[in-house]
This record gives sequence, C-alpha cells and structure tokens, in this order.
Amino acid sequence: MTLETAFERRTLDLEFPFTIARGTQTETEVVTVRIADEDAVGVGGAGPSAHYGETADTVAAVLPDLLAVVEDVGDPHQLERIERRMRETVRRNPAARTAVSIALHDLVAKRLEVPLYRYWGLDPTETVASSYTIGIDDTETMREKTETALERGHEVLKVKLGTDRDLEIVEAIRSVAPDARLYVDANEAWTPKEAVRKIERLADYNLAFVEQPVPAENPEGLRYVYERSPLPIAADESCVTLADVPKIADRCDIANLKLMKCGGLREAKRMIHAARAHGLEVMLGCMSESNASIAAACHLAPLLDYADLDGSLLLADDPYDGVPMLGGRIDLEALERPGTGAR
Ligand SMILES: [Mg+2]
Repeated sequence: MTLETAFERRTLDLEFPFTIARGTQTETEVVTVRIADEDAVGVGGAGPSAHYGETADTVAAVLPDLLAVVEDVGDPHQLERIERRMRETVRRNPAARTAVSIALHDLVAKRLEVPLYRYWGLDPTETVASSYTIGIDDTETMREKTETALERGHEVLKVKLGTDRDLEIVEAIRSVAPDARLYVDANEAWTPKEAVRKIERLADYNLAFVEQPVPAENPEGLRYVYERSPLPIAADESCVTLADVPKIADRCDIANLKLMKCGGLREAKRMIHAARAHGLEVMLGCMSESNASIAAACHLAPLLDYADLDGSLLLADDPYDGVPMLGGRIDLEALERPGTGAR
C-alpha cells in the first residue's frame, strides 16, 4: 500500500492571553500531519510544549524521519510496529510522534468506517465532561472570565493558581460559581509546606482536587503534600511517560496524562491501564492544541475519571473542525463520524 504524507505549521491566536504560574502566552503554534491512502486521509495534530523541550521547529525537524517510518512500513494498521519504530527513531519529541499516531488512528478507523472509540471497543455514554480553564489574571478579571464560562454552559472549571493571592482567587470564583465543579492547578509553584498550608484553607471551597502543587523535581515533596492534604492530589508535570506511573503511585490520587507528553495514542492507553493498576484515578489533559489532536482525545474520554480537553476551546478560532464540546460536554453525535472526527 502506498501512503502519502504531509504536514503543515500554523500559528493560532488564543481567545485570551493565557497565564499559568510559569508564564503567559497569547498564541500557539501547532503542526498538523496528514497521512493518505487511495481512499481516505487521516489527520493528526501536535501541540508542542516548550516545558517539555518541544516547539513547532523541533516537531517540523523530526517529522520527515517519522513520516519516512510510516511510508516504509506502508500498512497503517501496523500501529504497534510504527509507534515502536518511531520511538526508536526519535526518543524524545513526543508531540511529533503523537501527531503521526493520531493521523494513523484516524486513517485506520476511517478505512474501517468506524469512529475511533468503536475501533477501541469503548462506550461513548461513559464520557465525562471536560473542564474549562481559567488562567491567572487579576482577581476581578478571573471572576469575569468565570462568569463568561458559566454563560457558555461550563459546569466544570479548572483554576490556575500559584500566585500570592490564591485564596482570594478561589474565594472570588466560588462566589460567582457556587455550584460549579472546581479543580485548581498550581503548576509546581508551591513549596511542600506552603502547599499543605494553602490546601488546608482551600479545602473550605469544595474543590475536587489540587493539581501539581510542587515541582516535579521534588518527588519527596509531592509525597509530603499527598500524605497531609485534605484534598485529592493530581500529578501532571510529575507524570510524563508510562515509566512515571509507578513512581507517582504512592504520591498522588490522580494521574494527569497528556497525549503530547506520552508520545501516542497506544502509549496513552497503556498509561491509563497502568495508572488504574496502581490504584490511581485518571485524567486526560492537553496542551494548547487544535481539534486536529483534541478530537482523538475525545474518543479516549470513556476511559477517564476527569477530562481536561479545552485546548481548542481556548483558541480564538480553530481552523480544524473536531468533536464539538458545548459547555465542555462531548457531542456524542459528532463522535459517530468515522475516525477521530477532525477535519
Ligand atoms: Mg496541569
């Protein structure tokens, strides 16, 4: 079988400047991969994250080698073989490998004329609603962004923390969103003792969990917080690849996986099962991504306890169509399109 491959880079504006404890971004660069056979085109996206050493430049630099693997194997159904050979070709660059993995899965499911979740044997009625992220800003602006999110139908919100007014922010948001399900994410900003002190007070605001309270480089600090926290703890920066799952198992309650961290859809599924085997709950998050990759993540939603798939929702305008998520709820009808549903 002859497979034709191509990729393109695009710079996309965010709807609002997006600030987390580490910095601010106003736009994002994504790379979209296409893999075609005689009948169908598979689409996949990379949303590279500089925190993990990737940019659109590094993705574009390795994609020719990764797509050469695809063309060499020739059969898109050989997903395991292709993903393994891609990993042998470039050991890092997980977002680049993920884009190819998604495009292949999209193509394979389209060839079989089934939605991706169905190819995997999952039950779409088990999907959970995605959270919508409120980035750091002055407290009044964060309150206004929360009101806008509620008007758009979001009932699950994730609030970025890691400031000197974290309590004030959560109090302000809770005051306008008394019934919303609330997550908070400190993105490594706290020391272990500071984290415990803050979480003890945050526990008054009915939060579902606290994500990545301390730096990933401090695994003992994560354990210190986990053993003392009155709220569940999620690990994101501490949980990058499959090998990290056993390392965080006795240091948190929830593993936050991301396709752009782990390097492919098959690896993501392995991480989900490994996390469950270690007694962890599972969240699937995302980077700044377009629908070219978010659509694939939607098909994994039946396997999750928490979804944080607002990458496309945070863009001013997404050039790619995907699975609509009005108010964070995955559109089950759109999920019925063959492949991932990205176009
Ligand atoms: Mg996070």
